Amino acid sequence: MFLTRKVHDLLNDFRCGHQAKLTRIEGARKLKYRGNFRDCQEDREDRDQTVAGNRLTSAKVDRGMESASLVPVQQVESLKEFLSFRMPEALEMLRQMVGINSYTGNREGVNRLGHFTAECFAPLGFSAEFVASANPEYPEHLALTRRGRSGKSIAMVSHLDTVFPPEEEARNNFHWQAEGDRLYGPGTQDIKGGTVMMWLVLSALRAQAQEVFDAITWKLFWNSSEERFSPDFGELCRSRFDRDTLAALVFEAEGRLGEEHLMVVARKGRGTWRVKVAGRGSHAGGKHNHGANAIVQLAHTLKRIAALTYYSQDLTVNVGSVAGGTVSNRVPHEAVAEGEFRAFTPEVYARGKAGLLALAGRGEVRSLADGYACEVTVEILDETPAWPRNRGTERLYEYWEQAGVELGISVSSQERGGLSDGNLIWDAVPTLDGLGPWGDNDHCSERSADGLKVPEFVEVSSFVPKAALNTVAILRLCREVS
Ligand SMILES: [Zn+2]
Repeated sequence: MFLTRKVHDLLNDFRCGHQAKLTRIEGARKLKYRGNFRDCQEDREDRDQTVAGNRLTSAKVDRGMESASLVPVQQVESLKEFLSFRMPEALEMLRQMVGINSYTGNREGVNRLGHFTAECFAPLGFSAEFVASANPEYPEHLALTRRGRSGKSIAMVSHLDTVFPPEEEARNNFHWQAEGDRLYGPGTQDIKGGTVMMWLVLSALRAQAQEVFDAITWKLFWNSSEERFSPDFGELCRSRFDRDTLAALVFEAEGRLGEEHLMVVARKGRGTWRVKVAGRGSHAGGKHNHGANAIVQLAHTLKRIAALTYYSQDLTVNVGSVAGGTVSNRVPHEAVAEGEFRAFTPEVYARGKAGLLALAGRGEVRSLADGYACEVTVEILDETPAWPRNRGTERLYEYWEQAGVELGISVSSQERGGLSDGNLIWDAVPTLDGLGPWGDNDHCSERSADGLKVPEFVEVSSFVPKAALNTVAILRLCREVS
C-alpha cells in the first residue's frame, strides 16, 4: 500500500493512474485534453528527476518554501483541466442542493438534502449512515464512509442546514440565480458550495491519484443543525474518528484579503447568556416609591455588561435582546436581556464569563419606601469552546501554504470570529477550515434595487483553483506520512 512505499512510487501511480483515467474518459466522452501524456516508461525517467527535485525542495520548504513541487507542471495543468471538466456536473449538483430548502427548522427538507447528498457521493464508493440528532426537533446528521486499505484516515466536515426558512426565500424571491461569475441562492456559499467542493476534490483524487484515494479511509460528516447549538455533532465526529486520522478538513467558505486566499486556523469560542432582574411591582401613580424598577436595574447592569468588551484581547460581549415591564402605569417587576460573548483563547473566554457571573446578586435599584432591592440573576445558556491556534492546525496549514506556492496561489491563514464545527473537533484531530469556495453575504437573503443589499452568493471561478489547492495539499499530507 502507498503509505509504506516511497514517494517516487506514489508519483508513478499518480501519473499512470491519471493517464488510464483520461484514456477512459476520452474514450467514453470524446474529450480533448491539451496535456501531452507519454507512456509510463517515459514517465519513469522524468519521475526520478522529480523525486530528486522534491528532496531538494523539501529542504527549501523548511527554510522558507521557495518552489516546492510535488508534481510536474504538466500534472498540475491536467488536474485543473480535470476539475474544469467536472464543473458542469458539480454546478448542477449545487443547483439541486440549493433547490432543496434546508432551514434547520425544516426537518423534512434537511433530511431530504441528506439523502440527496448521500446519493451524490455514492458513485465514489461511499456508504451512508443517518444519525438522529440529540435534539428530537432537529434533522438527522449524515456520515459517509469509504474504507481504505491503509490504517490512515482523513475526515471532511460540512453541514446540511441553512438559516433561511422557506417563507423568507419566497418573500425575498431568493433562489438559484446565475449572474455573471456569481451564483446567488440559499446555501450557495454557506455551505452547499463547500459540500460540492468536497465532491470535486474526492473525484479528482480518485481519478488522478487513485492509489492515494484507495489507501485512505475517508470519513465525511454533515451536521444537520450547525446553524443552531448542536454539540452532539462534535461527539458524533469524535466517536467515529479513527485513531490514525491525519486531518479533519472543514469546508466552510474561504476568506479573502485582496488576492490572499485565507484558510481558517482558529475560531472564537462563544457563550450565550441571560440576565434576569426581579424587582417589585407597584402602582406608578399611588405607590411609586414602593416599587423597585426592574428595567432601571437592568439598564445599570447592561452598561456593565457592555463594558466587559475588550477589543485588544478580542473579547466581545454583545447585548442581543432586551424585554421587560408591561404597561406604563406599573413599576415593572421584571426585565430580561440575552446576549453572547466570544473570545479566541480559553483564558480570555474564562475572564469574560467570570465578569458576567460576577454581576449576579443584589442590585443598586431599591424601593425608597423600605429599601427592597432588585435581584439580578445571570445564566450561561450554552457554550461552544474556543478553537485557539495550536500546533496540529499549524502543521496542517503548512501543506496548504506549500500547495499554494506550487500552484501559484497566494495562501494565508485567518483567525475567524464566527463558529464552525471546527470548534467541536480541533482538540481531537488536527483541523483546518475555510476549504470551501469563495463567496460573500452569507446569512443574507435581501436584494435592493439600488444594489446596496445583495444576498448570499458564491463565485463560480473560485471552485477550480481551490479544488486544485485542496487536492495538492491532501496529496502532500498523504505523502508526508508515507
Ligand atoms: Zn452559517
